[in-house]
Amino acid sequence: MKEKVKRPTQVMVYPEKKVNNARTTTINLSNKTIKTPCYIPKIRTSKELDIITDEKKINDYFQGIFFDILNVSALNREKTIINSKQTRLIPAIKLDFRTLKGILPIFIDPNTEYLYLNNKQKRKQYRNLPSLPKIISDFLTKSTYANYSKLWQQLYNAGDTTTIINWNVREQNKYQPASIIPFTPFIEGENSPLIDIAIDINKKSAFTIADTFGLEPSFYFNLNYSALRNLEQLKKITDFLLDADGEYENVKMVFIKIKYFQLNDTDVRRNLGKFAKSIQDAVEFNNKFVFLIDADSYAIPCISTGFDGFIEPINGYVNDYGSSSTPSKFRAYYDKKRMEMVKANKIKNKPLKCGCPRCLKINEVYGGAFFDKIDPQLWSVWCKEHLFYSRCQEVKEIRDAINDNGINKIQDKFINSAKKDFVEILGYYVDGD
Ligand SMILES: [Zn+2]
Repeated sequence: MKEKVKRPTQVMVYPEKKVNNARTTTINLSNKTIKTPCYIPKIRTSKELDIITDEKKINDYFQGIFFDILNVSALNREKTIINSKQTRLIPAIKLDFRTLKGILPIFIDPNTEYLYLNNKQKRKQYRNLPSLPKIISDFLTKSTYANYSKLWQQLYNAGDTTTIINWNVREQNKYQPASIIPFTPFIEGENSPLIDIAIDINKKSAFTIADTFGLEPSFYFNLNYSALRNLEQLKKITDFLLDADGEYENVKMVFIKIKYFQLNDTDVRRNLGKFAKSIQDAVEFNNKFVFLIDADSYAIPCISTGFDGFIEPINGYVNDYGSSSTPSKFRAYYDKKRMEMVKANKIKNKPLKCGCPRCLKINEVYGGAFFDKIDPQLWSVWCKEHLFYSRCQEVKEIRDAINDNGINKIQDKFINSAKKDFVEILGYYVDGD
């Protein structure tokens, strides 16, 4: 019999109710509890951290905090300005970060997509990470879209993955995350040779994380949307998760990232729905749970059909464009009915229809989105706060729908939004095939 990954801490998954493929669960992560379906904001600046640190915002639907490995050390050092009059400076780490860590599980995204994506700024941040192994910095220097797969294969064949696995564990563990997310290659295209390497690194990392370091392991697949065009390729992932009982039964957490989700690609939408369902079958069989990283509104059909939770940057930017090419003075606002961001001029000089605490307050004080009275920087913070409340509300709707056996109602939500095509993720095909 093969050796098992030793369980370092107690992660227990208690499935509660399941309707179609959506389910509610309670997960005990050592001394913390996660209820699912849930939402986890990704925080990139200390100002964003300030938005969620108010204890009144702690609720049942927001169940953790995510950081990018590229930002977390800077965030640690950054100072927080308490109010706009700038009276006090307090290091963010001392207050918010530590306090929240006591309450909520935190996770670190290893951002492995930047070994592929040619984003100069992000690659520079990567090279500045402490004790970064030379093989990664060389990779970042040499990597192009054309040679990316080859470089990973060379690295893997040279047996250099151990150095990377160990560095990744040490670097993430500085922040004591609830689980270590392995450093697996970003998978691009319909027939990537890197899928087998990703599976093997997941396996090796699970043993290293748990047995060598005594930390909580997880599995991770980082996919470009183009990898979703081939169901056979996705089946390798679900087969791996299905087989991951026995020696891997103690690995309870699974993270999936899908970069650049293409709404206008029918195959990608439909395959995502099928993938979500088969992933749910696999994790249910093995008593694991699965989270989607860097998703926006498409996370809502995903958690209605197979994923247990989702992570979204609190500024709403899931892609790497950063600020848009022509940044407008006032940040875009999440329209809950349309389920997408709308430009500020679409809601200009109107009371906000959203009933969240932030929007109610804006209506009360300013009469609505009257931008001649509002400071753009404050508006920007409020938009993030509003997105936070909106996602919590959407998770609540799904949980209520599961508990009332009414998960089918979720499709109406999309039919009435600007994201009608999302019903295909739920398995309803408009053209009937
Ligand atoms: Zn609102």
